[in-house]
Amino acid sequence: MKPARFDFVRAESVGQAIEALAQAGSDAKVLAGGQSLLPMMNFRLVKPSVLVDINQICGLDAVSEEGTKLSLGALVRHRVTAEHSLIARRVPVLHQAMKHVAHLTVRNRGTFCGSLCHADPSAEIPMLTLLLDGVLNVVSRRGSRSLPAKDFFLRALVTALAPDELVKGVELTIPDPDAGWGFEEFARRHGDYALGGVAVILSRRAGRVEHARMAVMGVSETPLRVYAVEESLNGRPFSDASVDDAVEILRGSVTPMSDMNASAEYRRHLVGALARRALAAAWSRAKESVL
Ligand code: FAD
Repeated sequence: MKPARFDFVRAESVGQAIEALAQAGSDAKVLAGGQSLLPMMNFRLVKPSVLVDINQICGLDAVSEEGTKLSLGALVRHRVTAEHSLIARRVPVLHQAMKHVAHLTVRNRGTFCGSLCHADPSAEIPMLTLLLDGVLNVVSRRGSRSLPAKDFFLRALVTALAPDELVKGVELTIPDPDAGWGFEEFARRHGDYALGGVAVILSRRAGRVEHARMAVMGVSETPLRVYAVEESLNGRPFSDASVDDAVEILRGSVTPMSDMNASAEYRRHLVGALARRALAAAWSRAKESVL
């Protein structure tokens, strides 16, 4: 298939990009890695009248750390996120999860922020951004705003981003170095979108769980942060009983769909099994807090 006719703007600055988006009204699309947008255009599932290419804008490919925040610019590719030594050291759960995102050719072009904007409910990056309390830095001719990831994903492939807005970057919270983490997913082939996935971060103090965070993917219309599970774990000793309770709450919190890959019941069962593994891994990695 070929895309419908469109105009093309190669922006050389953020200012040019947001001007082009503002002038195009509701009908423009930002082109980042093109790994999701171009297939959708080829299938004519989207028909933008204007493509605003941001790939030539300098300075959007930075990965930086400030205090407890990790910032990724709009042109940070999956390959960079997967291989960056700062990320491997400071946010190991993200480092581990990125190994499961797509295949090498897609990882060379696809961007972290592009994945957020595409908002596939089975994608690792939106789930990880929820887990890490991500905040998107959004700009348009009307000004700039910070959009927390928890308010960003509205439905499958639908976000809170207005058509004239550009995501300039995202800020993630670096977990406490003593916290443990777990990441589990199940995909039929490595690099394919997974049937389900779970990511966990938690701390341990005197044999009890503290600051538990859990996010899941592939089991609802959007990635989910499962606050009810977090509450059930916090303050309790880590035990078979606390994990059983967490899994039961998790299975009751998700609303999976049946499709050609798996039934809703299978996905609900799967996410519970993955959560058990992720929780056990996180607990075993967590160092006893002395503060
Ligand atoms: P694009 O395709 O350029 O854009 C996607 C959407 O986001 C478009 O609507 C675009 O307008 C918008 N957009 C992009 N950047 C911005 C911005 N800065 N501001 C505003 N809007 C923006 N992903 C996974 O997570 N896990 C997988 O296992 C996986 N497997 C894949 C397998 C294949 C074969 C392919 C082709 C893709 C796969 N993907 C997977 C998707 C991949 O991660 C994409 O790279 C990603 O979803 C989109 O990133 P992109 O930079 O290519 O965005």
